[in-house]
Amino acid sequence: MGVALNRVTSPRSAVVLAAIEEANAQFVSLRRDLHQHPELAFAEFRTADKVATLLREWGYQVSTGIGGTGVVGTLRRGQGDKSLGLRADMDALPIKEATGLPYASQNAGVMHACGHDGHTAILLAAARFLALHGQFDGTLQLIFQPAEETGSGARRMLEDGLFERFPCDAVFGLHNWPGVRCGHVGCIEGPAMASVDQAHITLHGKGGHGAEPHTTVDPVLVSAHVITALQSIVSRNVDPLDMGVVTVGSIHGGQASNVIPDQVELRLTARSFRPEVRTLLQQRVPALVQAQAVSFGARAEVDYRLGFPPVCNHAQETAFARTVARQALGEARLEPDFRPRTASEDFAFMLQARPGSFLFFGNGDSASLHSPRYDFNDEILPLAASYWACLAESYLPATGEHLDA
Ligand SMILES: [Zn+2]
Ligand SMILES: [Zn+2]
Repeated sequence: MGVALNRVTSPRSAVVLAAIEEANAQFVSLRRDLHQHPELAFAEFRTADKVATLLREWGYQVSTGIGGTGVVGTLRRGQGDKSLGLRADMDALPIKEATGLPYASQNAGVMHACGHDGHTAILLAAARFLALHGQFDGTLQLIFQPAEETGSGARRMLEDGLFERFPCDAVFGLHNWPGVRCGHVGCIEGPAMASVDQAHITLHGKGGHGAEPHTTVDPVLVSAHVITALQSIVSRNVDPLDMGVVTVGSIHGGQASNVIPDQVELRLTARSFRPEVRTLLQQRVPALVQAQAVSFGARAEVDYRLGFPPVCNHAQETAFARTVARQALGEARLEPDFRPRTASEDFAFMLQARPGSFLFFGNGDSASLHSPRYDFNDEILPLAASYWACLAESYLPATGEHLDA
């Protein structure tokens, strides 16, 4: 890549940050406007419209309706044939906001509790800078994705020919992260976020009087054994050097203390970093549930649903992203030993299709993601936007121009 490992920010990155900070007020108010008008997965009509309008204003070629409500802004400069994808997500969550902020959600029961309002504003701030002042040679593809929270937005965009219609040699995305110092960056090579799959389990027994258990097949007792046995998968089947999670988060069955019900329903989430472990969980959960049920004379139905694969960051692109972080934000803002997260992200699908990396930007000491008290930290906005701009200029260097220059 030819990018030197500077310990201080480069002169160009100071110019980029200054220009982005000058226009920052517009993007803070845009972010708060998006926060006030959150939209659920595939219903991001107002948001997508705002994104498309701004991109057009700045000279981007804009394509809408990609994978539902997705938007792609394309900007070509110079003769270079390299192309770069930067992705932001736009959707909100079905959560009742409890922040009490003056710009709190006006859409009852819907809230930007994951900071996708911030991600969208960050990429737009970078988009404006790159269109007005960017020094690059090649093609920029700015990808505004719908429906990250339901796990289907990235897939829908890919099925809609995202990378065929808008070629990208590499693709990068970022997520704000509460509990990490504001504006600090975490880069992880390899698995960075876990896969997430779920199972809906129904244990069918034979109900009856609580006083006559010998005439029943008690699915409540079966469920207790199933839940306990499930814990042996991670402790006894998964390699101790690997990560796996099996969490039963929901159990429903029975109404009264003296009635044995006919059935009990369980819901669980299974997570891992490696495909081999993911396959192991997918095989062991149903097998173990079935065997436990049979051993009690009950019957089990297991509906195992695959969600997202793990987010696997590519080595070369992650090294590049880290180098850009050093140059754009300074060594001090690079989080040492940032660890993988067991949450998940459907950007994983994009990284299966193209090389790239998914980064984490510290949101400071805020409420956690998906909390009704969460808010995106606007202090990140200019830093992350200038990071995107520096990354674009560095990935698509203009002749004679470079981040190092
Ligand atoms: Zn989320
Ligand atoms: Zn999110």
